[in-house]
Amino acid sequence: MKVVLITGGSRGIGAAAAKKLAQQGYAVAINYKSNHQAAEQVQNDILSAGGKAALFQADVSDEQQVVELFQTVHTHFGPVTHLVNNAGVLTRQMRVEEMTAERINWMLTQNVTPYFICAREAIKHMRQSNTRQQCAIVNVSSAASYLGGANEYVDYAASKGAIDSFTKGLSLELAAEGIRVNGVRPGCIYTDIHADGGEPNRVDRVSDLLPLKRGGTSVEVANAIAWLLSDEASYATGTFIDLAGGL
Ligand code: NAP
Repeated sequence: MKVVLITGGSRGIGAAAAKKLAQQGYAVAINYKSNHQAAEQVQNDILSAGGKAALFQADVSDEQQVVELFQTVHTHFGPVTHLVNNAGVLTRQMRVEEMTAERINWMLTQNVTPYFICAREAIKHMRQSNTRQQCAIVNVSSAASYLGGANEYVDYAASKGAIDSFTKGLSLELAAEGIRVNGVRPGCIYTDIHADGGEPNRVDRVSDLLPLKRGGTSVEVANAIAWLLSDEASYATGTFIDLAGGL
């Protein structure tokens, strides 16, 4: 059975990926941090469409909780064969000259370390799976990694730059085993995350500046995640799909 764990599957891009992958026959482990109601809605949508899904609360920035998360998913569904490293945060917009070490370190512990630790645990599962050659990881990075996030969130952009390096390096470590690791780099996508940055309508503000003249949707990102996880992408590893409206 194909089992996908999606970190931050309760809202936004993770929720769209959960629904898309359930439609494709994956058993979907929906991780979330605190919004149980949103996670339950995603699960209900999947179950009512005839798919398989279960909820797994865990703060992925806590290593012990990640270890327990993977153990619990294994007990429920069997080994994780596919991982979407997606949970991420944004915080109040500011310039670099205002940033404290506390803020920068927080950003890295929320957006970088969990991707490493979740991948570490997923690899153990994938090696136990009898379909190792079909196992895959997708890391949700951001177009900010190459745009830089100037005047808004260079710390966030740098955390996503780290995810790009991580994706490339891990893909090379696992390539000989046939486990593929790729990334998606969304641009401005309509989700709740912009409110956390202090500007809920950010996507509308910048949409005219984008070559395609509009923000993107979570479903458009989920489609790329699903393709990279699928056997149709069997010769793609260490690569990225940019979903940034032309940026
Ligand atoms: P979102 O709508 O704010 O959703 C964030 C999700 O992550 C929620 O499910 C949240 O769980 C979960 N989460 C956050 N911290 C967590 C933690 N420590 N442990 C477990 N779950 C946690 O965000 P989004 O816009 O969909 O973003 C998803 C990913 O796409 C992020 O990595 C983000 O950086 C990236 N991205 C987004 C955009 C964009 O424009 N939206 C652009 C580029 C990249 P709760 O519901 O429980 O809070």
